[in-house]
Amino acid sequence: MAAMDKGFRLVRRGEVTVLQSPLLAQYRVIDHAFSTRLGGCSSGAMAALNTAFHTGDDRHLVMENRRRLLQPFGYEPDAVVAGIQVHGTGVARVTAADRGRGAAPRNFLGEYDALATTEPGLVLTAYAADCPILFLIEPQLPLIALAHAGWRGTLGGMAHVVIDRLRKDYGVAPARLVAAISPCICPSCYQVGEDVASLFRRAGWGGAPYLEPAGSGKFRLDLSRINAAQLREAGIKESNLAENSWCTSCRPDLFYSYRREKGVTGRMMAFLAIKPERSRSQ
Ligand SMILES: [Zn+2]
Repeated sequence: MAAMDKGFRLVRRGEVTVLQSPLLAQYRVIDHAFSTRLGGCSSGAMAALNTAFHTGDDRHLVMENRRRLLQPFGYEPDAVVAGIQVHGTGVARVTAADRGRGAAPRNFLGEYDALATTEPGLVLTAYAADCPILFLIEPQLPLIALAHAGWRGTLGGMAHVVIDRLRKDYGVAPARLVAAISPCICPSCYQVGEDVASLFRRAGWGGAPYLEPAGSGKFRLDLSRINAAQLREAGIKESNLAENSWCTSCRPDLFYSYRREKGVTGRMMAFLAIKPERSRSQ
């Protein structure tokens, strides 16, 4: 698959429009999507497909939005698993007993920014409005993992941390992993001050294209490219990596953006599930 054909593209599924990566979609053993804001029932700053409870949105609207998003893939909202995202690098090893921990407000898995499982039928989720989400699958086992990598997670080497855990906990060879980076904020929209820039410089990401001067003491930070570089360093093969070309801030028609909306906004959901065995032939 050519590099430009692997990235996320818009797909209509039932009432909603989502993004899917052809690189991941070719593995029929898994289901995945990154939601847009299209097709939901929330209004105002949350319009329309807000998928997260912690934004101040009505919980019943969030439940209905999740139902609209997951139903075309054959999943119930009560199969959702989510951690409390704290911009750390904690990785949860999710089991069947965790089903539904993330399906309702105040019922979360704990403070984890990354989730992994080999259990079919669980809907692993991560929520974002600018931060990159890393999708990782090992289609033979099968095994799936999702990781939320904002600037703090990226600085903490989230891609390395999660792949290391997959290696140790599940015996996964990094060369067998297939990875995709979700839509996230582009470097033109994501300008940071000297405080954040100096942290990235110290971590070895001080040059182009990762960090570039934008004038007036600001710097353009490319979270998408840094995550792609970290995934390669961690052993992901070029043919197994789908990079991102969408910007959440440049496209208010499609995406929520925390920075663009100064914090008052909804969240897109990234989800990844291993298909229940009964539906693998579909
Ligand atoms: Zn942008």
